Amino acid sequence: MDEYSHILVAVDLTEESRPVATKACALQRAYSATLSCVHVIEPLSLAYGGDIPMDLSTIQEQIQETAKAHLSEFASTLDIPADNQHLIFGRPETEIDTLANQIGADLIVVGSHGRHGIALLLGSTANGVLHGAPCDVLAVRVGT
Ligand code: AMP
Repeated sequence: MDEYSHILVAVDLTEESRPVATKACALQRAYSATLSCVHVIEPLSLAYGGDIPMDLSTIQEQIQETAKAHLSEFASTLDIPADNQHLIFGRPETEIDTLANQIGADLIVVGSHGRHGIALLLGSTANGVLHGAPCDVLAVRVGT
């Protein structure tokens, strides 16, 4: 198969998401493919474990609401319909690969770097996605 039919772009909703999405859109047009997007919310309990002796559920709900609004706003600028916008909880690299499998994506587009910074040779998420991907992965070079 030479062409891509379903492209999944992973966005961390930082400003680096824009060039990554622009590249995904260009590929979508070139292949007349379907475009889906995903943002993964990392549960606070994963980040902080039992370190904080307080109920994090209210904060988690607020994070979810904010992420949902941002993802929907971002996706609408890319003409991605609501059904193709995915907001998921978990570890980004694992969830992105699992979703790609579920929706039958044949290309995952990620940024080479994002929140984890350019100190790493390849962003930790991009690296993780690559290792578990069920399909091709394009790491769009961002942040020089
Ligand atoms: P990073 O690992 O933070 O350097 O991010 C590299 C790339 O992985 C980003 O440009 C996104 O494409 C993707 N990514 C990172 N975190 C997330 C997230 N929470 N949800 C979706 N994609 C993400």
